[in-house]
Amino acid sequence: MKYTSTRSVQQVSETYALLHGLANDGGLYVPAGFPERSITYSMIADKSYQEIAYIVLSKFFPSFEEAHLKEMIHAAYSKENFATADIAPIHSLIERLSVLELFHGRTQAFKDMALSLFPYLLVAAKEAEGEDKEVLILTATSGDTGKAALEGFKDVPGTHIQVFYPTDGVSPMQQEQMQKQDGANVNVTAIRGNFDDAQQFLKRLFVDADMADKVGAKGVRFSSANSINVGRLIPQVVYYVAAYEELVGQGAIHEDEAFNVVVPTGNFGNILAAYFAKMMGVPIGKLICASNRNNVLTDFFHNGTYDMNRPFYTTISPSMDILESSNFERFLYYMSGQNPDLTKSRMADLKKDGKLSVTDEELQRIQQSFSGQFVNDEETKAIIEQVYNSYGYLLDPHTAVAMGAYMKELQAHPEDGGRHTVIAATAHPFKFPPAICEALELEKGVTPYDSLEHISAVTGVAFPKQLAQLQDKELRFTKTIDKEAMGKEILEFVDTFGK
Ligand SMILES: *Cc1c(COP(=O)(O)O)cnc(C)c1O
Repeated sequence: MKYTSTRSVQQVSETYALLHGLANDGGLYVPAGFPERSITYSMIADKSYQEIAYIVLSKFFPSFEEAHLKEMIHAAYSKENFATADIAPIHSLIERLSVLELFHGRTQAFKDMALSLFPYLLVAAKEAEGEDKEVLILTATSGDTGKAALEGFKDVPGTHIQVFYPTDGVSPMQQEQMQKQDGANVNVTAIRGNFDDAQQFLKRLFVDADMADKVGAKGVRFSSANSINVGRLIPQVVYYVAAYEELVGQGAIHEDEAFNVVVPTGNFGNILAAYFAKMMGVPIGKLICASNRNNVLTDFFHNGTYDMNRPFYTTISPSMDILESSNFERFLYYMSGQNPDLTKSRMADLKKDGKLSVTDEELQRIQQSFSGQFVNDEETKAIIEQVYNSYGYLLDPHTAVAMGAYMKELQAHPEDGGRHTVIAATAHPFKFPPAICEALELEKGVTPYDSLEHISAVTGVAFPKQLAQLQDKELRFTKTIDKEAMGKEILEFVDTFGK
């Protein structure tokens, strides 16, 4: 299978796309011949998550040998890595409404769904491309991605990972998860300042020819684990296909009955994966894009203009605090009828003016399958409380935003009420103790663990294993540096394993 850029007609192999991440024209890679209508219910009926993963992934990465791809899938979606046997279980909340739980991986966020597999795909791509250098993953994180990438890459042969996080911005729980990271091939460093400082500096180091020469001389090349890589996107298609199989299996829908999905959205990767599943033949009706107060996407789905000229808000659903959704470019590409010239000129508009627009005709087409709703922090907390009190089910703030978007969409379109809806649950509620305490009006503890003890005592929700064990682990990475010293930090880390 060839991959092509969203901004030109150049084509590369699937392993090249995996290894390089971004096309050299600045575009994102998409499959050149999308496997449309390639999934039917009979192909997936009664299959396990791992078996469905093989069916889906082999259509996007056919150059991997069957045994090799299966081996990677089984290593990624193993008992050790996931707390539940059915990797992404469906919890039926009320009639016609289910929650797809994507948070049973090692870091309690849906990033684990892709980052458990991605390191294996990257190493396989590196071998297929004849790249004999060791890979050093560089990541700047504002929260969930850093920890999930550390867990994914730890002790994977041929790889190393350096994570930078800002002293201002990550939650105490997220910081502790990273400071206590184990694995022989990892390094974690705090940067004085905010996420933008860390991110900007790292981007510069990433493309710095002098840095590349220095690490190249030691047999090392840089790579990244961010969500624009097809190796992050495609594994996310699997759980929508598996959800379809499960819904039919549970008798919630018939095999040819459409269901809607609601996705709490930041960089647009998760909802795009749902759209890919729809294009493959999964009977998804409407895709509801849920946002918090950073509602640039909600506005787009209403009026066809994506306008980043607006204030940025920090909210209690921080993984959705994003104005520039990196995967949105892929969506634009498909909505333009896979037109790279048009996509390129729209992305140029976005760069120049901070906004872009689609035509009325395109907007009408988009609105046939997509809609957007947003929910503010007060509403989010009220929803957490309401859903807990009514159904005894505890939502994290991101999933609560999706629930709120579902309710608003239902108000606007009561006719949707007859259709089954799946809410994508992207984090375990215990990742966000302060917000949960506020929503349930519980006293906050001195430490996040104290807060979680309160929440657990009141709700009966058990600690995820990894969070329970975290408390007793030793702090391992406590270094804080100025952003100017990031290059030196990377080179010192390379000295510990390079030639
Ligand atoms: C990353 C993340 C999101 C946003 O997902 P995108 O694929 O970037 O849209 C939502 N919720 C949680 C908890 C996340 O970690």
